[in-house]
Amino acid sequence: MTRVIFLGPPGAGKGTQAQILCASAEVPHISTGDILRAAVKAKTELGQKAEGYMSAGELVPDDLILGLIRERLSEADAANGWLLDGFPRNVEQANFLNELLEEIGQTCEVVVNLEVPDDELVTRMLARGRKDDQEDVIRNRLEVYREQTEPLIDLYNGRKQLVSVDGNQEMAAVSAELKKIVRGAKAEAQTGAQTGAQTGA
Ligand code: AMP
Repeated sequence: MTRVIFLGPPGAGKGTQAQILCASAEVPHISTGDILRAAVKAKTELGQKAEGYMSAGELVPDDLILGLIRERLSEADAANGWLLDGFPRNVEQANFLNELLEEIGQTCEVVVNLEVPDDELVTRMLARGRKDDQEDVIRNRLEVYREQTEPLIDLYNGRKQLVSVDGNQEMAAVSAELKKIVRGAKAEAQTGAQTGAQTGA
């Protein structure tokens, strides 16, 4: 089973690395940013509600996101694993996810924190040229990340689930490291499950 959360600031390469990892692990890449951008493009009710927050670099309110995650994780393709990219984004979302996973009898094996220095993040986002990649919006997204998402690093570290990866290397080097981490976490989870079964725990 592969169940992974990708943390890390905007522009760290989460989306790119998630795609590579998901292709090899054969699990769905669940990106709340991608889901929201598709909703904006399709002009759905969700998209219309989310658009203003997104173009300002603010987080979309939790009530628009939580139900969406609950539904997505209950889809058939998520039964055998998943990679969450861009969720959870604040402590409330992390607590929600914790309860949801407990409810559906799943556990996340590893939380990966992709680390990239700020000046490199800004350079990467400016080069990407997405609608919310203008300099003032980028600055706000970084601020929002520091205030709301970064506390999750301590939270998952405290639960001994966090692994940090230097995201400021060649793309292939980052991918190789990620693959190794996920393989290791999967093996560890299997050993844990077997030991638990043997001892009746
Ligand atoms: P991303 O592609 O992950 O960088 O997300 C792009 C934008 O979508 C963010 O700046 C937020 O406005 C919104 N967004 C994505 N994921 C979330 C989330 N989990 N909670 C709230 N807003 C989100």
